[in-house]
Amino acid sequence: MTPSLQPDRSLDQHQRPLGVLRLSLTARCNFACPYCLPDGQEPEGLLTLKERLAVVGAAVGLGVTSLRLTGGEPLLNRQLEELVEAAQPLRQQGLGEIALTSNGSLLDLARAQALRQAGLDRLTLSLDGTTAASVAQMAGLGDGARGAEALKRILAAIDHAKAAGFDPACGALKLNAVVVRGRNDDQLLPLAQLARQQGVELRLIEAMDVGTRNGWSPADVMPAAEMVQRVGQRWPLEPLGRAPQGTAQRWRYGDGQGHLAVVASISAPFCGDCNRLRITADGQAYTCLFASQGTDLRPWLRPNPNPSGLSMALDRLWRQRQDRYSEERQMDGSGTVRSAAEMAYLGG
Ligand code: SAM
Repeated sequence: MTPSLQPDRSLDQHQRPLGVLRLSLTARCNFACPYCLPDGQEPEGLLTLKERLAVVGAAVGLGVTSLRLTGGEPLLNRQLEELVEAAQPLRQQGLGEIALTSNGSLLDLARAQALRQAGLDRLTLSLDGTTAASVAQMAGLGDGARGAEALKRILAAIDHAKAAGFDPACGALKLNAVVVRGRNDDQLLPLAQLARQQGVELRLIEAMDVGTRNGWSPADVMPAAEMVQRVGQRWPLEPLGRAPQGTAQRWRYGDGQGHLAVVASISAPFCGDCNRLRITADGQAYTCLFASQGTDLRPWLRPNPNPSGLSMALDRLWRQRQDRYSEERQMDGSGTVRSAAEMAYLGG
């Protein structure tokens, strides 16, 4: 039975089913993007591989069809491939796809092949600029030489991913770029050009006010409509809309050279059909990027995973879920939301 046909599938307080699990594998990152501000070290009590599998299994049992592995920088986790492989049997229970979001700087060919072989379906690489200086600035790398090195590695990662079988034409390889007004908005067209040349869909993301330490201000946000207008002036675009429960509004280039997407979390929030559950590297479950509090799952994981207890805890959490913080913020016009967890813990 496919999960969408399950008669007793849990719905939250706004009748939204659970569909996507974003699982962070580490809070650490080898970049220090100022809009994200990751930690240099892990929090106490990181989940083990066995505990993570138990969490994914419970989530799939409750209707999750899509698992996205993230971080921090998930390639810093040496058990990533093992986790992807160990999650494969869950496909029989309804898990449809496993995806990874990474900055790609650690993705060599061997790792890309190992991930593909382990059963990873999709890969999204993050890149916020096409010059050494812009990459250095956006990734918090200090000087241009480190920016140049990072850019070189990420461009190579695109090649490695393609060579390993992540086919961008099937949506198995995409690029994420956060756009911060006044910092890298001059990179919009160069990024779009790079993505078009590579045949990869570019997803332009509005800078979000997640967490408490990234110094976000509404002035940082370039609304998605403006990004689309700027790119569309150079290469005309045709709207495709947003897929149900998707995060991105998609556009097709009029000349047939692929697609562009924008994630308008601030200017056009999409809480209405949000089906995403987020779990941090140390086992805190969050039902919204902007939630002020998480639920500690470790009591159901330690000393040994308790699958039924875990499933009941997640089910209860989901059924109680009321969050629609981005929409509320937009309605009250305050420009701010109550957000306590950092993006580096929640993983985007
Ligand atoms: N390190 C990995 C990476 O760079 O893709 C995975 C984790 S990162 C938190 C996941 C995504 O969230 C990245 O594409 C990143 O650019 C995006 N992100 C981080 N902070 C953000 C913010 N404040 N607003 C919008 N997107 C953000």
